[in-house]
Amino acid sequence: MSVLVYTESDNGTFKKVALEVASYGKAVADQLGTTVTAVTINAQDTSVLGNHGVDKVLSVTNSKLETFNANAYAEVIKQAAEQEGAKVIIVSSSADSKYMAPLLAVALNAGFASNVVDAPSSTSPFTVKRTAFTNKAFNMTSINTDVKLIGLSKNAFGLKEHSSSATVEEFSPSIPENGVHVDAVDKVTGKVTIADAEIVVSGGRGLKGPENWGLVEELAQVLGAATACSKPVSDLGWRPHSEHVGQTGKPVASNLYIAIGISGAIQHLAGINASKVKVVINTDPEAPFFKAADYGVVGDAFEIVPKLTEKLKAF
Ligand code: FAD
Repeated sequence: MSVLVYTESDNGTFKKVALEVASYGKAVADQLGTTVTAVTINAQDTSVLGNHGVDKVLSVTNSKLETFNANAYAEVIKQAAEQEGAKVIIVSSSADSKYMAPLLAVALNAGFASNVVDAPSSTSPFTVKRTAFTNKAFNMTSINTDVKLIGLSKNAFGLKEHSSSATVEEFSPSIPENGVHVDAVDKVTGKVTIADAEIVVSGGRGLKGPENWGLVEELAQVLGAATACSKPVSDLGWRPHSEHVGQTGKPVASNLYIAIGISGAIQHLAGINASKVKVVINTDPEAPFFKAADYGVVGDAFEIVPKLTEKLKAF
């Protein structure tokens, strides 16, 4: 019996969530007194997984799996879990894994807990802490099925280093021909995506128009951050819809979220609650965002942001 983690890669390179899932898998395996096996799909350098607690890698290389296919990927992970006799399977909360996890749970007859943020508080019954109500609350969920599937929230558990190495085995599961096929469209080449970002710089209607977005982009570039926006900004066509965050947009779980000219409506806050440190720049001291902020600057973004960018460039 081992813990199985699905370590996602993008063009052969592991995503940060893959290493988080591996680190989490190691913590669970230690509690259960077992080992961690990772299943990888078309990943290139698997040696990094050992540094995050993985004992064994099942490496799948198959051209049919070059683009994400929920049914096919679920089938690969299912076969890996069955081969290893894994009772706990851990995936990330990436968009792909969220899409695939319910299929995998059905295939394995597993109880599924999504949005998990911490190592199990107990292994009997197997109990995990999860976020609820768009990150406004936590709950403790016990999974009573023989096989358990965990969806780990991004940036919740963090990366843990281990000085070990993993053995690597080629794994050749049978791949179903059917399935939901999604063609990958890489719209944000060369930019940090919101999903993977440690830092997100986000702009709202307070920035007055798309011609002023240089402020946001320059600050983001200096910080190595992703850019995001409020809903009206994308509705107005100032920014692409892929940047809209909030209840009806993308969730953000970055370490730092900088909100510039965003009022902090409840629907916006719902999507960014999981971010660790929130900084708000707004002219209105009564803006609701200040109540949710860790740091706030009351002032004009057009004065403050260029000064902040200049200061950061000097570091
Ligand atoms: P505004 O509310 O217009 O706020 C602009 C802010 O900029 C103000 O606080 C103002 O003081 C400040 N400001 C003005 N000038 C400056 C300056 N020079 N420097 C600094 N600050 C300045 N919204 C989302 O963002 N995401 C969602 O997912 C979402 N989903 C929704 C779902 C539903 C069903 C509904 C009804 C609404 C949803 N909304 C969502 C919209 C939400 O209610 C707010 O209307 C929206 O978030 C406001 O966007 P904003 O803060 O950019 O604009």
